[in-house]
Amino acid sequence: MSAYKIPFNRATLMGNEMAYITEAVANGHISGDGGFTKRCHTILETALNVPKVLLTTNCTHALEMAALLLDLENGDEVIFPAFTFVTTVNAFVLRGIKPVFADVRPDTLNIDENKLESLITERTRAIVVVHYAGVGCEMTSIMGIAARHNLEVIEDNAHGLFGRYKGKYLGTFGSLATQSFHETKNFTCGEGGALIINDPKYIERAEIIREKGTNRSRFFRGQVDKYTWVDVGSSYLPSDILAGFLCAQLEARNLIQEQRQDVWTYYRTNLADWAAEHGVQLPVIPDDCEQSFHMFYLLMPSLDERQAMIEYLKSHGIYSVFHYLPLHLSDMGRKFGGKEGDCPVTEDISDRLLRLPFYNSLTESDMASVVAKIKDFHFEPMSV
Ligand SMILES: *Cc1c(COP(=O)(O)O)cnc(C)c1O
Repeated sequence: MSAYKIPFNRATLMGNEMAYITEAVANGHISGDGGFTKRCHTILETALNVPKVLLTTNCTHALEMAALLLDLENGDEVIFPAFTFVTTVNAFVLRGIKPVFADVRPDTLNIDENKLESLITERTRAIVVVHYAGVGCEMTSIMGIAARHNLEVIEDNAHGLFGRYKGKYLGTFGSLATQSFHETKNFTCGEGGALIINDPKYIERAEIIREKGTNRSRFFRGQVDKYTWVDVGSSYLPSDILAGFLCAQLEARNLIQEQRQDVWTYYRTNLADWAAEHGVQLPVIPDDCEQSFHMFYLLMPSLDERQAMIEYLKSHGIYSVFHYLPLHLSDMGRKFGGKEGDCPVTEDISDRLLRLPFYNSLTESDMASVVAKIKDFHFEPMSV
């Protein structure tokens, strides 16, 4: 048990998880691609209206698959937001590429589409976008830039499942997109992920890469009479036990999203006046975006106040967190040439961002306690 009265995250069972796990075991097929994996594939393919979804062991591995599918070579360049999780980039760096970091927008904290063109060189192969907090990037401009320069777009949609941009689901813009079902995401099976394949030319090779570089999927469909080693690959399938858990979550997607919307709306409604009074920025949702209600964050006026707020909430049993140190300033980022001042917005917001407890079973009385404590926080007059 956490020492915190109100944890940052809590995985919430929606009802059928344990029954489906029991059923997977009873079916006798607990390795990958059993009945529950297929059910998850169908749910996602149908809901998103995409040609192919493949469950993976996690989002990082789905990103690795994307990097393999693009056939990236040593010295190729790929553009990433400087403000993201390490594996968005590391999955591609494994292929020998050089990461190029773009700054983010000060409103949505998404990759700044206006910074992209100046970063493109003749070695650039792809742009990887992250829909931060499940709020869509400016996909109209980004897809236009990519088309003009003949670049692939990959969406790391770990935050954004069922969010939309101009009415279209996040994860359906790029040729490939990735999802995470880690415990901290909207839908979970502990550790899990998915690759969404929007460009059908990648389907067959994706199946091979996910199945150890063999044509085993074609063999099971009766398309070849024996299966063999045909390409590079690894083992990226989750157990059907995990798929059973995930299936229960995906089937409850409408309820999960309604509950998360309630949490987000509660925070937004009850903190708006306080935020305006103290110069705290709340999440910005552009008119074109229907967000996925992945998280709620505050952008405090300064690093000191952010740290003080985390400590203050902690002293009252409330666990808030910060995240994403600027990747271009990490040890690895610096090896690729990153330096202070490259991405000023990222450097600034990374110091000031604080995420509030957020999960679908968070009760109204717990949210009320969080809000009340935040409002009691004492801003130092000197630092404003
Ligand atoms: C959580 C997350 C990942 C990694 O997901 P895993 O399933 O843990 O590999 C990648 N990118 C972003 C933006 C994330 O939030």
